[in-house]
Amino acid sequence: MSRRPGDASAMSAASSAPLIACESVERTYRRSTGRFRRAGPEVRALDGVSLFVERGEILGIVGPSGSGKSTLLHLLGALDVPTAGQVRIRGQDTAALSARGRRRLRQESVGIVFQRFHLLPALSARSNVAVALIEAGHSKAERRSRAEEALATVGLSDRADHAPGELSGGERQRVAIARALAPDPDIVIADEPTGELDTATGERILDALAAVAEDRAVVLASHDDQAVDRADRVLELRDGRVNGETEG
Ligand code: ADP
Ligand code: MG
Repeated sequence: MSRRPGDASAMSAASSAPLIACESVERTYRRSTGRFRRAGPEVRALDGVSLFVERGEILGIVGPSGSGKSTLLHLLGALDVPTAGQVRIRGQDTAALSARGRRRLRQESVGIVFQRFHLLPALSARSNVAVALIEAGHSKAERRSRAEEALATVGLSDRADHAPGELSGGERQRVAIARALAPDPDIVIADEPTGELDTATGERILDALAAVAEDRAVVLASHDDQAVDRADRVLELRDGRVNGETEG
């Protein structure tokens, strides 16, 4: 996909900072319990997590179920804000932005791939990708051509007219990756993207993700080792804390 190196927003004062900076981040959830939905005990999903991700890097996040991987990815993708500490994306403190400002930041900078593909069943692969471009204000013709370009990147040009129900699990996930990439984000967040797929199909998905990392930052959560092999660095979470970091 073509990049826009001269893009004015990429030339901001923050351009030398890491794409993602996460410092001493904490995220607690308050559970409501009982008939009257009283505030229950606090769950500390993340506790003192710090990390940086640079352009061109794949950061793997591993840890057992419940260790805080999804919570962390939501913060790194500006879908959520920390209860303490700071997350900066391209130099912007996500908690200092309004909800609207965060949505804009996500639109401009973040592509997200979920474990369950979240495709719209009634739409073709091409339209599933093209809808991701509506908010950015592209013309219909441009949405279509960008969607086709993104599908080509993941090797699905020949399936553009097919609905999700006519595609295999791996093909659906590739559509979801194309959808995340179509707006040309600097950051790609993938939360257990191979969790629903067999090993061989998962390998292909990871190849597709690794191929886009070259000039972006990719953060990839996984509960198995398969994804870890592709990462440049791997951060291990345990009970919301960083248990260790290894070079991939
Ligand atoms: P993982 O993705 O590694 O399985 P999560 O980030 O989903 O872990 O969850 C971390 C912890 O936070 C778990 O104890 C989970 O039950 C809790 N948690 C996650 N989301 C919520 C929520 N919306 N409300 C309350 N607790 C939550
Ligand atoms: Mg999770």
